[in-house]
Amino acid sequence: MARLEVHQFPSRSDNYGVLVHDKATGATAAIDAPDAEELLAALHEKGWKLTHILTTHHHNDHTAGNAAVKRATGCTIVGPAKEAESIPGIDVTVREGDRVEIGGATARVIETPGHTRGHVSYHFPDDELVFVGDTLFSVGCGRLLEGDAKTMWSSLEKLAKLPPETTLYCGHEYTDANCRFALTVEPENHALQARAKVVAKLAERGAPALPTTIKQELDSNPFLRPSSPAIQKRLGMEGRPLNEIFGEIRRRKDQF
Ligand code: ZN
Ligand code: FE
Repeated sequence: MARLEVHQFPSRSDNYGVLVHDKATGATAAIDAPDAEELLAALHEKGWKLTHILTTHHHNDHTAGNAAVKRATGCTIVGPAKEAESIPGIDVTVREGDRVEIGGATARVIETPGHTRGHVSYHFPDDELVFVGDTLFSVGCGRLLEGDAKTMWSSLEKLAKLPPETTLYCGHEYTDANCRFALTVEPENHALQARAKVVAKLAERGAPALPTTIKQELDSNPFLRPSSPAIQKRLGMEGRPLNEIFGEIRRRKDQF
């Protein structure tokens, strides 16, 4: 049964903060804490009391607010066991398959390494929500800072298998620029062409193109589409292993 209300707000220069709130119990979780002041202001605006921070990975733009938010709210900080030593204030460490209760709602932990070596995503199956941090972006994916293409591709495959109607929230918004790159990889993709038009209009008025859905990403995100014959042909990689094709798309994006 769906029970969570979600509030997304811009934070820092290009991060998003996200709050999830269980009306029945009042429990509220922040996905990461990019900035303490902005997070506390969002809580105040909604009239919600923070009970948890669900950390996706250790980068400063996702954990900078941890200490001050914990001091202000007494919340419990949950984060990946594999990078616990670099997450300020962490109370509870999680691994693949672990469950985290936010009031009456349950998140399942999916390990999604690649951007960082311990990165995790939080999937709320009953609410059809997934929070993927810097693993998958709308029409893009995170940089391979602490993992190789094979590792990241395994992570993306896990996300790609979630129910297509799942709503997906990411740590950053680069959708407009991502569309311009994606169109160089798969210009003949009609779903991508349509999406790029919608996104350009949203960007013009500074409106977010997030959240997205698993289905929308499967249809238009080149990083989830190394099996596309058109992409394979364009890259001259017909029939090659999908993780290698993914790696080539990532390499091209790094140089775009
Ligand atoms: Zn990051
Ligand atoms: Fe980030």
